[in-house]
Amino acid sequence: MKIHEYQAKEILGSFDIPVPRGRVAVTADQVERAAKMMGGRCVVKAQIYAGGRGKAGGVQVAHHPEQAHEIAKELFGKRLVTHQTGPEGLKVRRILVEETVEVGQEFYLSITLDRQTSRYCLIASAEGGVNIEEVAANAPEKIHTLTIDPYTGLRSYQARQIVHKIGMTGGVAEDCVRLILDMYRCCLDKDCSLVEINPLVVTKAGWLLALDAKINFDDNAVFRHWEYHEMQDYSQMDPLEISAGKFDLSYIKLDGNIGCMVNGAGLAMATLDVLKENGGDPANFLDVGGGATREKVAEAFKIILQDKDVEAVFVNIFGGIMRCDVIAHGIIEAAGEMACQLPIVVRMDGSQVEEGKALLKESPLNVQCADFLGEGAKMIVAMMKQEEP
Ligand code: ADP
Ligand code: MG
Repeated sequence: MKIHEYQAKEILGSFDIPVPRGRVAVTADQVERAAKMMGGRCVVKAQIYAGGRGKAGGVQVAHHPEQAHEIAKELFGKRLVTHQTGPEGLKVRRILVEETVEVGQEFYLSITLDRQTSRYCLIASAEGGVNIEEVAANAPEKIHTLTIDPYTGLRSYQARQIVHKIGMTGGVAEDCVRLILDMYRCCLDKDCSLVEINPLVVTKAGWLLALDAKINFDDNAVFRHWEYHEMQDYSQMDPLEISAGKFDLSYIKLDGNIGCMVNGAGLAMATLDVLKENGGDPANFLDVGGGATREKVAEAFKIILQDKDVEAVFVNIFGGIMRCDVIAHGIIEAAGEMACQLPIVVRMDGSQVEEGKALLKESPLNVQCADFLGEGAKMIVAMMKQEEP
């Protein structure tokens, strides 16, 4: 789960990490008032669920409140396209107005989950700021990492080693050791999958300050934090992902044209692989889970049909707990409601499979049934070829 920069900064602040003074605003007038509070000169920062805003015009310095108003008017409602958003961009509905900081040096600091070691990993670099992706690509030796042992936790001597590697010395270095330990405490307490400060700056006056902040929460731990639900900004999310969340379905958008409805993540991955192997290109995958009902199958199917990239649907479900006739009813109901004429291949197996297949055959849908996964994948690719003008 993602949150905005201003929310991440509030959390970091509550863990004693210094952040600039700022106020969030939802109208240009509020931005102007906040700019006055900051003393006139301020930084106007578009709040979207993506980074790379600086290079895309989403972070601008205003020299007086009227200018802050002008910048805000231009940003509000605009879809900001950054290298992290994709070509459609994300709409700006909130703006953070912040005091302007005199930056001495910019560093990069993050703690994230490393999938290879299944542990938290501390990452630091002296080359922080808006070009960190290029540094990672062209000069990986300038990025220092440390895997954190969950039993011992992060120790101050380890943090100190990293701090030395990024060239900090003296009082600032000790402040940074403390900041890193606070960051780790935040990770554990808040169940974060990422806490990133880029840039962490040493100001001209010699103070450490988190100038940008990004926090992602571990989705599997969200149930432990009631307060997270109200932090979510639905305007920043794919509407299909929101509806999938409502029905407890996992929906992942991909960039092909075959919608995939499956049950179980393992079967989902196998389905994607086999589709690809047979020349198909998945548009998404939607996992309906183990014991889905007819309603859930129907909702899942409707979500797939609403994806504008979908030109065909491939269903691959093992009816163990789920009965195949229930699955067929769900598909027929949803496809009927959406007047779907797209080619559909259903590969299902398990209890009541013959009844399920019979229901699909009798239906008016453009559907074929398959017994095996490879066979089904070939079928859907062939059906799509036939549809081509
Ligand atoms: P993004 O990572 O999305 O580009 P940042 O918040 O990191 O957005 O801002 C981009 C750059 O703008 C920063 O690297 C920093 O140099 C500058 N910046 C951001 N906030 C401030 C601030 N309050 N005062 C001065 N400069 C800032
Ligand atoms: Mg940044």
